[in-house]
Amino acid sequence: MNNDKGFKSGYVAILGKPNVGKSTLLNYFLKEKLAIVSEKPQTTRNAILGILTQDDYQIIFVDTPGMHKPRTQLGEHMMRSAISAGVDADAVIFIIDALCGITAADRHIFRMLEGKNVLKNCRWSTLLINKTDALKKEDILPLMKQCSEFAGFNEYIPVSAQTGENCQQVMQELIKSLPDGPAYYPKEQLTDKNERFVVAELIREAVLKLCREEVPHSVAVEVETFKDNPGRKTLIQSTVFLERQAQKKIVIGKSGTMLKAIGTAARKEIEVFLDRPVYLELRVKIQNNWRRDTAFLRRLGYDKNL
Ligand code: GDP
Ligand code: MG
Repeated sequence: MNNDKGFKSGYVAILGKPNVGKSTLLNYFLKEKLAIVSEKPQTTRNAILGILTQDDYQIIFVDTPGMHKPRTQLGEHMMRSAISAGVDADAVIFIIDALCGITAADRHIFRMLEGKNVLKNCRWSTLLINKTDALKKEDILPLMKQCSEFAGFNEYIPVSAQTGENCQQVMQELIKSLPDGPAYYPKEQLTDKNERFVVAELIREAVLKLCREEVPHSVAVEVETFKDNPGRKTLIQSTVFLERQAQKKIVIGKSGTMLKAIGTAARKEIEVFLDRPVYLELRVKIQNNWRRDTAFLRRLGYDKNL
């Protein structure tokens, strides 16, 4: 804890439909790969905290899962944690994707924010128009004008989370908006999720990336063994859960080639994250309807608000 006078701290919620660049922005702010970035929507299941501590402030970022109409228990859980993140935050960042323009999903989220008085109750809010690097300069201003339908934000800023354009300005405003307060987390801590959880997410990311469309969101990953052996590689044993036999076949691939590729890709990411050599063993198992199985979700750590 840091109770020095002049120290500021607070929660910042990053909201937006899937794929607008929430995790990319968070990673830009933290300069570390913590949240899982992927081309597929809804890869971030839990509200992952990223914590940025400097000499005179601490920002706790809540990277929320995409908000969508929930059809399963997991979907509902995602929705609830996303909304509660906004309600509790000191500052709110709402991101839209410049490449999609304003969509029904953006309007849906905005109405929820209004319904919960999120913008009125927070200290500072901004609407970010992201991915402007991929847009022609002359197309940015008209899009900014359209955003006036989302009234009530303190600032409307075109940014690129990828190149970092205007992101420092956002950071400056965030810092200004923080209330006086202590550091809630130790300085070295970057996330409240344990290493085991992040490792499971990195494995899941590798499955989604390599298997593409064939294995939609039916992948869950459990890390059973996480053992540091002095002088040897860290042993990680993990199970990839799928819902159907056909998916299992795809993930394993012809004579195991796909699973091997997934293992190699995941191991490289895990070694970067843990900063040490890793021996990774993967298994594949069928778990029918796991998304509706409360006990199973709880076991995997998706249980916070269930
Ligand atoms: P999230 O679902 O909102 O967390 O979105 P992600 O951060 O995972 O990003 C979704 C996709 O958009 C990824 O392929 C990113 O590389 C891409 N992306 C994010 N920010 C930008 C940006 O500023 N410019 C461009 N061109 N692509 C971006
Ligand atoms: Mg994300």
